[in-house]
Amino acid sequence: MTRKFEGPKLLVATHNAGKLEEIADLLSPYKVEVVGAAAMGLPEPEETGTTFVENARIKAHAAAKATGLPSLSDDSGIEIDALDKAPGVYTADWAETETGRDFVMAMKKVHEKLEEIGAPQPRTARFCCTLVLAWPDGHDEVFPGVMEGQVVWPMRGDQGHGYDPIFQPDGFDVTFGEMDRWEKNRISHRADAFAKFVTGCFD
Ligand code: IMP
Repeated sequence: MTRKFEGPKLLVATHNAGKLEEIADLLSPYKVEVVGAAAMGLPEPEETGTTFVENARIKAHAAAKATGLPSLSDDSGIEIDALDKAPGVYTADWAETETGRDFVMAMKKVHEKLEEIGAPQPRTARFCCTLVLAWPDGHDEVFPGVMEGQVVWPMRGDQGHGYDPIFQPDGFDVTFGEMDRWEKNRISHRADAFAKFVTGCFD
C-alpha cells in the first residue's frame, strides 16, 4: 500500500526549468500547490548515484529534509543501445560546459559517437524517468517510467527541452522536439512514471 499525498503543497525538487514546467503541466488537473526547488533557494545536491532510482532518492530526500515538505524528484535520461546504454544517468553531464549546459553540443556528441562506431539503423534508445516522492520523516515511494524509440539525425523541432530534437518515439514519425507539449505529456517516459505516481499517491 503506497502512502498518499495529503497536500496541499508539493515541492518539485528540480532546478531544470523544462522538467518543472512538464511536471507542473502533469499536475495541473490535481489540487496541488506546486513549488520549485529554485524558488525555495535550495542547493542542487550532488548526484552521486549510479542508477536513476538512487539519484532521484538523493534529490527528493534532500529537498524534503530541507523544507519539511513532501518532495517529488525526477531523475531521467536517455539510454542508447549501440552506446551500451550511455549516456544513461550521465545524460545531463554530456551537456555540461564551463558556462552551463549546451544540449546542441550534447546531441552532436551522441551523433558523432554513433557515426564513429557505424551503429546500424534504427539506433534504438529509450528515455527513462524515475519519480520519487519523499516525506520529511524519511519515507519514500518510487515510480519508474519509460518510452522506447530511436535516435535520429539531424535534430528536428524546437519544442520541449534537452535531447527532444533527436528522439523519435516508437509509433510516431516526429521527434519529441516536433511534438506539441500536451501530446508529449500524454506518451512520454515522464507521463508513464507520472501515471503510476498518481495512481499510487493520489487516487
Ligand atoms: P537529471 O535527471 O537532472 O540528471 O538530468 C536528466 C537529463 O536527461 C536532462 O538534463 C535532459 O537533458 C535529459 N532528459 C530527461 N528527460 C528528458 C525529456 O523529456 N526530453 C529531453 N531530454 C530529457
